[in-house]
Amino acid sequence: MNMPESEARALLAALLNGDLPDGDGRFGPFGGRFAPETLMPALSRLERKAREFFANNDACRALNEERRAWIGRPTPLTSALGLERAWGAEVWIKREDLAHTGAHKINNALGQAHLALRLGASRVVAETGAGQHGVASAAACARAGLPCTVYMGALDMERQAPNVQRMRQLGAEVVAVDKGDRTLRAATDEAFRAWVSDPEGVYYLLGSAVGPHPYPWLVRELQKVIGEEAREQFAEAAGGLPDAVFACVGGGSNAIGLFHAFLGDEAVAIFGVEAGGTGPGEGQNAASLGAGKPGVLHGSYSMLLYDDDGQIVETASISAGLDYPGVGPEHALLQAIGRVEYLSASDDQALEALAECCRLEGILPALEPAHALFAARQWARQNPGKRILIGLSGRGDKDMPTLTRHLT
Ligand SMILES: *Cc1c(COP(=O)(O)O)cnc(C)c1O
Repeated sequence: MNMPESEARALLAALLNGDLPDGDGRFGPFGGRFAPETLMPALSRLERKAREFFANNDACRALNEERRAWIGRPTPLTSALGLERAWGAEVWIKREDLAHTGAHKINNALGQAHLALRLGASRVVAETGAGQHGVASAAACARAGLPCTVYMGALDMERQAPNVQRMRQLGAEVVAVDKGDRTLRAATDEAFRAWVSDPEGVYYLLGSAVGPHPYPWLVRELQKVIGEEAREQFAEAAGGLPDAVFACVGGGSNAIGLFHAFLGDEAVAIFGVEAGGTGPGEGQNAASLGAGKPGVLHGSYSMLLYDDDGQIVETASISAGLDYPGVGPEHALLQAIGRVEYLSASDDQALEALAECCRLEGILPALEPAHALFAARQWARQNPGKRILIGLSGRGDKDMPTLTRHLT
């Protein structure tokens, strides 16, 4: 999208002021609320209650206490000395892999479970693809004392059997969705349907910074703690600000959570890293920002992967968490105004970066943030001696079956 410099500057200023998303839920040209008429009142009510929630000191204090005592926040900022020597740059990693349940997704799930209680919902529904958001939702709902139903594509249930067991162990009901593509897209449709059938009693706990307004904003507000902590920890441990910040982008929640605190710092270069899969061809990757076009999916207008007939493209990535044909509207805006640059790393590059992080840091990252590690290394080699902050969104234990297949 070609945007005049003055317009780009005005949109960034509006974003930093909190004027975006606007009253229609738009981040500039992106976002909005493309949902069935029956859901509009529920979405408006959710937005109103979420704004009340964030303005309520007692509610925020209770959430912060749960973040500390149950999630284990603040997560550490680790100086990566092995990578530093190998890359010729100062490397710091923000350790969301050490958050309860092993990834950043719990920040969102816990916050929305608290919101569900305030809305007076009697039960929670969630969608899940690989199962990570389902596990986080099941755990957060158990903690909050709310029954939780997770919709999951029948095909995904076969592929991710251990996570199905984890969700059930945590007390969630897992419903197989045996229609459509039998994966995340069909599961999302079912979760929306369950919400439409009882918008007051049901709370829909959406898993990334996507969907109709207010979700992209709500999820960002719950994930921005990552960047706020990292900014403060960096200033304390290293002094000043990083030169560059990297995070992987699936739907975009961990990335927007890390980026947000740095958007106003002109000196900080920010990079989102998408799944380059096996190549640039249609259906070979999940790079919605790098290779997509604007369109509507799951309730919002953003960058998407679809073919010339308007059909959503079947995406491909070695990392289940990045394997999604869309991306949150705030990232589409940040790309359009040139504030964040979006790169990609291939399956093989992610595997290589993951192995290096294991070997040099004694940290097994998830395959998703391994994409960010690879891109950061490339950048470090072109910009020697700089200070780099990388969001390590989750741990790689869940990826052991994939790793065993590829690394032996
Ligand atoms: C789900 C997941 C992602 C991708 O989701 P975002 O919303 O883009 O953050 C990234 N990393 C890990 C570890 C995940 O589980």
